[in-house]
Amino acid sequence: MTANPQVVPGIFRLSFPRIFDFVPGQLVALTTDPLVPVRFYSIASGSGEPQVDILFDLVPQGLLTPRLARLAPGDTLYVSPPFGRFVDSEGPSFWVAAGTGVAPFLSMLRSGLREGKTLVQGSRTVAGLLERGLFADALRERYLPCCSRKTPKGYSPGRTTEWLTTNPLPPFPASSSAAAAAWWWTRGTSSSARGPLRKYHRGNILLTPVMKENLFGKTIDQLSAVAQIADLPRFAARQMCDWLYRKDARSLSAMTNLPRRAPETLSELYDIEPSAAGQGDGIL
Ligand SMILES: Cc1cc2nc3c(=O)[nH]c(=O)nc-3n(C[C@H](O)[C@H](O)[C@H](O)COP(=O)(O)OP(=O)(O)OC[C@H]3O[C@@H](n4cnc5c(N)ncnc54)[C@H](O)[C@@H]3O)c2cc1C
Repeated sequence: MTANPQVVPGIFRLSFPRIFDFVPGQLVALTTDPLVPVRFYSIASGSGEPQVDILFDLVPQGLLTPRLARLAPGDTLYVSPPFGRFVDSEGPSFWVAAGTGVAPFLSMLRSGLREGKTLVQGSRTVAGLLERGLFADALRERYLPCCSRKTPKGYSPGRTTEWLTTNPLPPFPASSSAAAAAWWWTRGTSSSARGPLRKYHRGNILLTPVMKENLFGKTIDQLSAVAQIADLPRFAARQMCDWLYRKDARSLSAMTNLPRRAPETLSELYDIEPSAAGQGDGIL
């Protein structure tokens, strides 16, 4: 990954090179290590930008976010291909979000969607209204910020839900006959959604390190972990070791006695670059 600043207390913006195309509104599964369960994060950057950003809340007792918060530029991050159908199109819609839940709308805005969009954004404090300047400049009177604590002038008091129950929604532009789509994306949705999605982690989600790892230079114990990550039998570690250090294999497809799908699976995560590996590791 390339950057991980804490943008407001407890909220980080993690960036990594864009190695895939995505539709604004999609998410990725992330982890710091293929043996640690993944969690899901909405992409917050534009679809044409060179870096992918995600916004995450640090959950101090959480499994993954304390690990994410410790990442520094250059550290390895494992990421799935983008997925999800929470997408929007040209034309009017209402976007409603609180906290880091604004990420998919930020991605949509940074990808060029703004005409006819209205955002009701909520947070406890003004500082927590992430990227409020960007939204205010782009959406103007259709940007409706709410603060539930310390409400400054020009901001609506209370949560987004209070705003929605006490205010009539602004009309869509007269030119549009399209049906209104109200998009709800608050943090409260995440824990109920996480249950059924959890079964996809690791085993079914293909994780790709942003930079592929070099297989050459790994010890037999490290190759055993590789075999476990790629769902290969334990003996595959010994086979890989043999190909790498006795038979001088320089590609995964050359490892002909590995299980049939192994080269394809492994090539998503690893490559073989003898020149990049440290010398004299005492591998065997
Ligand atoms: C579709 C989808 C998109 C998501 N997008 C984002 C995103 O863009 N940004 C983001 O930060 N998160 C997002 N999440 C939530 C994210 O996947 C993790 O659940 C979250 O980061 C916590 O992970 P953890 O491993 O640190 O905590 P866990 O180990 O999973 O949780 C530990 C405990 O903390 C509680 N907890 C979890 N999240 C919070 C929270 N935010 N505040 C307080 N307590 C919490 C849990 O209920 C649990 O009791 C998304 C989830 C889904 C399903």
